[in-house]
Amino acid sequence: MLHNYQNGVWAFAEVQDGIIHDVSLELCGKAKQLAAKTGVKVGAVLLKDKTVSADSLAQKLFRHGADYTVLLEDKALEQYRTQPYAFALIELVKKYQPQIFLFGATPLGRDLAPRVASELRTGLTADCTDLQIEDVSEKDGTVHPNLLLQIRPAFGGNIVATIVNYDQRPQMATVREGVMPLKEYPQNSGELLKESIAFADAKLFSVEVLRREIEKRQLNLKGAKAVVAGGAGVGSKENFALLFTLAETLGGAVGASRAAIDSGYIGSEHQIGQTGTAVRPALYIACGISGAIQHRAGMQESAKIIAVNTDKDAPIFSIAHYGIVGDVKEVVPMLIQAFKER
Ligand SMILES: Cc1cc2nc3c(=O)[nH]c(=O)nc-3n(C[C@H](O)[C@H](O)[C@H](O)COP(=O)(O)OP(=O)(O)OC[C@H]3O[C@@H](n4cnc5c(N)ncnc54)[C@H](O)[C@@H]3O)c2cc1C
Repeated sequence: MLHNYQNGVWAFAEVQDGIIHDVSLELCGKAKQLAAKTGVKVGAVLLKDKTVSADSLAQKLFRHGADYTVLLEDKALEQYRTQPYAFALIELVKKYQPQIFLFGATPLGRDLAPRVASELRTGLTADCTDLQIEDVSEKDGTVHPNLLLQIRPAFGGNIVATIVNYDQRPQMATVREGVMPLKEYPQNSGELLKESIAFADAKLFSVEVLRREIEKRQLNLKGAKAVVAGGAGVGSKENFALLFTLAETLGGAVGASRAAIDSGYIGSEHQIGQTGTAVRPALYIACGISGAIQHRAGMQESAKIIAVNTDKDAPIFSIAHYGIVGDVKEVVPMLIQAFKER
């Protein structure tokens, strides 16, 4: 029976306060696509304590592409701590031997995945923006069938690097939030495989969690249906107020380019792009943003893009669905009025 679930493509299901992180669901969808190429199954791995119902979480993972969920419930997993979580995953990997293991590039994923990879003596590519499966030939002609191509920007975003791991397994990667589409397969169902592990080694618990405080996030760039983003061309902190008004009119959030942040117009939590948040809202309004590749990496999947720029040759117009050549200070008040009238 076990062999049915071995050699699969795995996604780590990150859970906080009983909710599965969106990036884990995005990974399940991507894993489904990768697994289809190699004819294997998709496994989601769920570590949790017993206070949350495993069934509803597992159903959600199935609906997003998982064929089975490996569940480990234990009091030791109540609060996230690197060592017990890593220990649990390493034990599960040894048993199920997945060929690929994916994590979200969240703070938790960035902490956990390297620990797991190093203990398993395998490689890990951080912060991937794409993943594919292909046969890869070495210079000496050796062909490695169905390798995971781990794709990410490198050298300051000036090149896109493709990284492969010839020999060690699993092939491991962390993936940026929001870069893979969130896919749903309403008919998909799966199996829940319950596991148990003895957390016998006291050293696993050398870190004690005394108190946990969660900072409330005011800004919800990822969940916003509309994002109004400003760049260096907005010109000042005061002018950014116009963008906030437009975002409020649309019920959306305000984003920014790195140049706007570096100029001190707005806080860094608003940054969109390669080193900021990746978004794909229904509507993205880019105001005074030139459209550098590092910015586009975080917004080009938006359903509709409107660009406002004084330079008719600005690169942002090449990806915009609608372009307005004009000054932000004149155009944005007109947009506010037009949207308010509607
Ligand atoms: C490793 C690395 C990572 C990076 N990561 C990111 C990232 O995550 N996100 C990001 O955004 N950048 C990132 N950058 C920076 C990126 O390369 C660009 O420098 C940046 O995106 C430019 O921001 P901008 O378009 O606001 O500014 P500019 O390129 O200076 O463009 C300003 C635009 O405003 C227009 N303009 C001027 N005045 C007006 C006006 N009154 N009305 C309308 N338009 C006007 C101009 O025509 C121009 O097109 C990164 C760079 C590196 C090297």
